Formats: sequence, C-alpha cells, structure tokens
Amino acid sequence: MSRYFSARFAELEPYVPGEQPQDQQYIKLNTNENPYPPLPEVAAAAAAETRKLQLYSDTECTGLRRILAGRLGVAPEELLMTNGSDEILYFAFMAFCDEEHPAVYPDITYGFYPVYARINRVPSREIPLREDWSMDLDRMSAEPGTLFIANPNAPTGVAVSRDEIEAVLRANPDRVVVVDEAYVDFGAESCVPLIRKYDRLLVTQTFSKSRSMAGGRLGFGIGDPELIRDLSTIKFSTNPYNVNRLTQAAGVACLEKDEYNAENCRKITETRAETAERLRQLGFEMTDSRANFLFARHPRIGGEELYRELKARGILIRHFSVERIRDYNRITVGTPEQMDTLVRTIRTILEEKA
Ligand code: PMP
Repeated sequence: MSRYFSARFAELEPYVPGEQPQDQQYIKLNTNENPYPPLPEVAAAAAAETRKLQLYSDTECTGLRRILAGRLGVAPEELLMTNGSDEILYFAFMAFCDEEHPAVYPDITYGFYPVYARINRVPSREIPLREDWSMDLDRMSAEPGTLFIANPNAPTGVAVSRDEIEAVLRANPDRVVVVDEAYVDFGAESCVPLIRKYDRLLVTQTFSKSRSMAGGRLGFGIGDPELIRDLSTIKFSTNPYNVNRLTQAAGVACLEKDEYNAENCRKITETRAETAERLRQLGFEMTDSRANFLFARHPRIGGEELYRELKARGILIRHFSVERIRDYNRITVGTPEQMDTLVRTIRTILEEKA
C-alpha cells in the first residue's frame, strides 16, 4: 500500500477472481464461463460498431433495453443495463444499504457481497447456510436490512423456489430484496414475474453465463421503475457510459438469436447431469446444482489437492480456501468432451493415490 492510499480502504480485502491464465492452454472450468462461443452475428455486430468508436455510447442503452424488455415481458423503464451484473450489485449495495439497512446474505455465497459491503462501509450480517447448504431464509428474514439472495447460490449451486422468495417478500413489506440470478437460466425459477407485485424486489441477471458474453461485460437489473431510477442515479453519479458501444451492439445481436442461447443452456444442463452421475460413480458427493457448475467433494482427496493435481494436468477448476468449503471444488460444466477429459483425469488421479 502506498502512503497515499486512503485510510478508509486500509482494511479492504479485494475480491479474488478465478485465474485467467494467458500463457498456457487449459481446459478452463474455473470461472463458470459458457463453453459455447457466441454466434458469428454477435462478433459481426460488435465489429460493425467499431466504425463509431469515436462516439460515446448511448447512456440509455435504448435498443438493447427495448429488445431485452420484450424477451423478459417487462417494460424498458423496469430495466437498467450495467457493466456485468457485478456493477448492478455494486450499485444496489450503494443505493439500498446503510447503517440502518445492513446488507444481509448467507455466510457462503458470492464473494463480492462482503467486498461491496466493506467498500461502501455498510454493516453486514452473514447468516450461515444450513448443513445441507440450503439457505436459511427464515433467519435471513428475521435479520433487519437489505437481503441479498443469490439464486442459485454460488458456489453451492443450490436454488430456492420462487414461492420461498415470495414468502420472504410477503413477510418483509418495507425492505429491499435483491435476487441475484446470474445462473438462473440453468434450471432455477426466476423472480422476474414478481417485480410488479413487489416494488422493493430487484432481480439481477447477466449475459456472462447463459448468453456466452462474459468478456463483453453486460448485466442488468429488473425492478420497479422507482428502484431502477435510484440505481440510475448511482450510475449517472459514477459512470454514465458504463456499457460500451461494442457490447450494446453485441447484446442486441445476441438477443436476436436467443434460441441459440437457450439451446446451449439445455446442452449444459444435460452435460451437468451426465457429469454429476460419472463423478458420483467415482465417489464424489455433490449438491443438486441448478447452475452451470458442480460443487463437489471426494472423501479421499482434499479440495486443494484435487485442484493442484488437475492444474498440473492442464485442467483448471476453482477451490476456495474458505472455512466450511475447503473440502469442495467448484467445477464449471463445459462441453461433453471437456467433461469427459475431466472425469478420466480425475479417475487417474484417484487411482494413483490408491
Ligand atoms: N453473481 C454471481 C453469483 C456470480 O457468480 C457472478 C460471476 N462471478 C456474478 C454475479 C457477476 O457476473 P458478471 O459480472 O459477469 O455478470
């Protein structure tokens, strides 16, 4: 830390993203990217837009919001587009949390929540997940503040139903509930149909996972126009041009062929089931993941060791050196070929250990 770094942030521990190695070719199963690249139309749309790169981007994301609103069955005023869903989550911590409204989230969840709480200097309450990794929504509900519910949760993949979230909303008439649906398209129930019924519900989603655009950085929030205006105030106070031109153009092209994305999600959920079955046969235990990753542990090999052994053999998965989940790994669901290599490599590692 330089001697100029503000004392406000002296204690800040930044979020640690998964490795993005630029040297070697790995089978990359560590950051929940989609294994299927975007359609050529998406690249073409972004490339065509480079001709206007001297101009700032549309702060309202007009074209993109129009087509996305149509896809989701909401109005454009119920949407705010952001630079990945990380940005809308950051805006939500800024807009809806303070001393009187602590951020409430599970002890094991998306690693950015505690960072966003700390950088905004808002208090937080971490409610332990139950032993079976399910979310204790009753305890979260009993804790005053703004709720953050990743559904499905990360890195566990465990989902809660829309009815359970609606029960939380009904029991809490005066507080904001943020439902982070980064992985919802892989088999969980979306809360988007509830936004008109509950004006304090904010749903966040992303193009990073189900729409193969992690590198484009495109996310969005869906909620009551008043909530959206609050978030927009934060956006216009930080970075009005938060979604660049190329990404807006790519996003429109991506949505024009949204069936392709839906088909990829279907393939990924199928591969998830097949891989889970094969890993179970090798002795792994895992949660019932509704996301594009598996959360698994093996009684005979630690999470850290498996991560290292696989990395040495050219396969990256994610291990978290975090209390409670040290024995586990989070494994992104790739193509069937990648998962076949993964399973066969793990089998070899286990045989060598035996
Ligand atoms: N929420 C969760 C639960 C995530 O795992 C991620 C991905 N790291 C995000 C949000 C943010 O993803 P992005 O900024 O790429 O939309």
